[in-house]
Amino acid sequence: MTGPNPASQTWPGVTPRLYRSDGSPRPVGVLGFPVKHSLSPSFQNAAFAWHNLPHRYEKWEISPEELPAFLEKARREDFLGLNLTVPHKLTGWEISDRRSPAATATGAVNTLLLDEEQGGWLGHNTDVGGFLETLPAGGYSPEGQSAVIIGAGGAARAVVYALGNGGAARITIANRTPARAKAIVADLQAILPGCRLETSGLDPAAWPQDRSLVVNATSQGVIEPDRPFPISPLAMNGANPAAPVLFYDLTYGQTPFIKAVRENDYPLLDGLLMLIYQGALAFETWTGLPAPRPEMLAAAQATLAERQRLKGPGN
Ligand code: NDP
Repeated sequence: MTGPNPASQTWPGVTPRLYRSDGSPRPVGVLGFPVKHSLSPSFQNAAFAWHNLPHRYEKWEISPEELPAFLEKARREDFLGLNLTVPHKLTGWEISDRRSPAATATGAVNTLLLDEEQGGWLGHNTDVGGFLETLPAGGYSPEGQSAVIIGAGGAARAVVYALGNGGAARITIANRTPARAKAIVADLQAILPGCRLETSGLDPAAWPQDRSLVVNATSQGVIEPDRPFPISPLAMNGANPAAPVLFYDLTYGQTPFIKAVRENDYPLLDGLLMLIYQGALAFETWTGLPAPRPEMLAAAQATLAERQRLKGPGN
């Protein structure tokens, strides 16, 4: 590790307080817009239940206009904390009274812990540590490696910071809009001095030949689920077909990227494990207790299977 551990879950000097003064559980949940399909309640509630805690993790559909009032109410009502998802992560950063190194570096907060004694909203970005934690599942260590990140949004920023902290030697940010990739380099190069950050377009011919990891951090699969991914896996895989790169899609399910990589039988991680691990780190931030990762994953998989069953065959 070359910098502060981005996966550190708890705040120095902060002892998590799970109950209000009247003994009721402090509320916790996720804010998004939309948030209907969030899997977080299924696996967070599995974690609270595993620890025999009475907390019920909720989801609240809150528009950007409604967010300030909701956060004010959360403060007044002594919430434990919140997860923030699209489109609230940047506002989460702005309203945080203190920020973890991962939040500061990425400019995005997905986990808020309310601690009025130590200074109100403590903002953290658990996507960073969550991503890093998943890499062993793909048999991958970033130490000294060259990686390509496709996309330059908030998720790409978290992945770049994670890989840089994990010891990657070179990270190429390949984005459709070059200015966004350049902004990541401008913001993160100084805090990742041991890692060379550079930008590229979507043509793999211009990517480093020695790449060992290709991460799809675009939202293409969500926005255009029925259109092929704009780059072929064969081209992304690079010069040596005998030594395939590890492909990683931050999204999960049957995205065009995942389908194309699977058709070619290349090694692949999808975003489900990262979703669980970022949630596990959030749980540990709020409670100070170890998150039961296998149980959380099983709960998410059960919810996904049930959703699939309700959709019926062929859907
Ligand atoms: P943003 O909206 O901030 O960024 C989206 C990126 O995708 C942009 O760089 C955009 O390029 C690019 N993009 C969109 N459509 C296309 C296309 N057709 N061709 C090429 N590039 C395209 O999104 P986030 O960074 O917040 O999230 C990205 C993905 O990561 C989402 O699918 C999200 O669900 C997932 N995610 C998963 C997590 C997990 O725990 N598994 C955690 C966080 C995110 P341009 O700049 O040119 O517009």
